[in-house]
Amino acid sequence: MKIGVLDVDGHNFPNLALMKIANYHKQQSDAVEWLNHLQRYDKVYQSKVFTFTSDVKTVVQADEIIKGGTGYKMYGDLFCDDTEPDYSLYPQYPHAYGFLTRGCVRHCPWCIVPKKEGAIRPYRDIETVLHGRKTAILMDNNVLASNHGLQQLEKIVDIGCKVDFNQGLDSRLVTDEIAKLLSKVKWIRFIRFACDTTMAVEPLLKAVEKLNKYGVKNYRIFVYLLVNDVDDANERCKILKRLGVNPFAQSYRDFSNAVSPTQEQKYFAWYVNQKAVFKATAWEDYRSKSKALSSRQSFVR
Ligand code: SF4
Repeated sequence: MKIGVLDVDGHNFPNLALMKIANYHKQQSDAVEWLNHLQRYDKVYQSKVFTFTSDVKTVVQADEIIKGGTGYKMYGDLFCDDTEPDYSLYPQYPHAYGFLTRGCVRHCPWCIVPKKEGAIRPYRDIETVLHGRKTAILMDNNVLASNHGLQQLEKIVDIGCKVDFNQGLDSRLVTDEIAKLLSKVKWIRFIRFACDTTMAVEPLLKAVEKLNKYGVKNYRIFVYLLVNDVDDANERCKILKRLGVNPFAQSYRDFSNAVSPTQEQKYFAWYVNQKAVFKATAWEDYRSKSKALSSRQSFVR
């Protein structure tokens, strides 16, 4: 069979489902390639991770088109989930990609994970994810909430591979013992947390203090910052700025994508994420000086 795969979100980040599907079909001796809209296929797999990504507009020529992914609000398990990913689809990325746990113990109202994956559960071993690679991007939602996850962190330390938990760790679960464990991990670049609400500030500060105790410097800490109320986000950001950690602002979207970010949220996120601007200017000054902002009626909502 001739199989086409289509990463609707673009090729900015490896699509794990498509890599597994590609390998599954190659194991059946099928020919697998990135979709070429000029070609006809027996079967096309079309994957979309983000609800806000526009769907593909160009005609897909295939006897069968199979869509999947959170972006299509399809939350079922992948039929070939146990298959190893085919990394040849994304030769520009050197890391292994995967999960050690699935699910989460929390129920944040904006997040699809509890609905999609349910309670936290063990999923994979780090060596299975690495599959011979030296570094891994791990997309776990709350690895610290799982005994299996903590055992895997110990194994990561023993193996000496480099990792990045790119969805962030839960600062509320950083005990002294866990901080010590995290300080021994080789991080690809950052230890990531989230500070999405005012209530998240205090646990984050405590986690940072514990990590500092074990020698982790603040410039190695990266903090996702959800931007809903901009003034509130700015107050959280000022604390993070004083601390010397790296905030990364994301405009609020609920998982159904029913609410689009406002212009003000988008500008604030832009301001925070342009590090030179963020370091040199306070948001209040940046906002008042920006003619572009003040000329936009939609800025004030
Ligand atoms: S802790 Fe993270 S993964 Fe868990 S429900 Fe909240 S936002 Fe989602």
